[in-house]
Amino acid sequence: NVAMLLLRFLPVRSIWQAPAMKSGVERILWACYLALVANAVARTIVVINLLPVERMEELTRSGLWLLMLAVNMVIGLAFILSLLASALREILQALRSERDHDALTSLLNRRSFFESAQMRLRSARSPGWALLVCDVDHFKRVNDAWGHAAGDEVLQIVGQTLQQQVRQDDLVARFGGEEFVVLLRCADMSVAAGIAERMRGQLAKTHCAAIAGAVTASFGVAGVGSSEDLPRALQRADALLYLAKNAGRNRVAWDASPGVVAV
Ligand code: GH3
Ligand code: MG
Ligand code: MG
Repeated sequence: NVAMLLLRFLPVRSIWQAPAMKSGVERILWACYLALVANAVARTIVVINLLPVERMEELTRSGLWLLMLAVNMVIGLAFILSLLASALREILQALRSERDHDALTSLLNRRSFFESAQMRLRSARSPGWALLVCDVDHFKRVNDAWGHAAGDEVLQIVGQTLQQQVRQDDLVARFGGEEFVVLLRCADMSVAAGIAERMRGQLAKTHCAAIAGAVTASFGVAGVGSSEDLPRALQRADALLYLAKNAGRNRVAWDASPGVVAV
């Protein structure tokens, strides 16, 4: 019994170092563990009190002892089930995160961007939203000159740079290749264009060791009215990006006023 008790203290260090538990399953697991320890303590005290051995034989036939064993089995079963549930929950969380994020940049991927953006546009109250589409300029040349691995490093830096320029609740996604999309909580298009301009400027001066220099990117900025408006806004931002590319790249294009595009 003493050995069993000591065994139950084995995970104490890991529990101590583990991050604070948040889910219900983890709380149940924790409660089961404490109950198992309490049960082992109680059993050990009972056994020590009933030494010498002759009285121990009485004990093993007693109702109290059988009850303690039964309680131990029930708690043990609950512990194992909550342990399995907790492990399953962790695996599902990891799989979901893998499904929703781009492996190279850890940003949201196209699928999860749409899901999160639709949810945000439907639920959160905001006077307006802006969609930024960003495409790295002449990225094919980066790959051709420095190799694909260097290109990958550049994409990671671009992703980090965009993420650093927005608030925590704005969405930044890698849409594929060297194209990124940002959803900003911002009603004023001149403010959104200013944020895109800040991103553009930051990228142009961010040194990428892999290519011994910096890359530039072009941006298209469009307003989003509602979740239904998202596909149209994306088309508009893409069209504006195309204008920025045609105007010489490394610039931001946005609708300054009805019918007037600022590049
Ligand atoms: P533009 O200024 O007109 O956008 O020219 P660009 O060269 O950036 O555009 P283009 O569409 O011709 O080339 C995009 C390149 O991006 C081609 C492709 O090989 C590269 N690419 C796409 N995905 C990845 C990736 O995950 N890693 C790397 N290293 N390259 C990628
Ligand atoms: Mg490009
Ligand atoms: Mg492109």
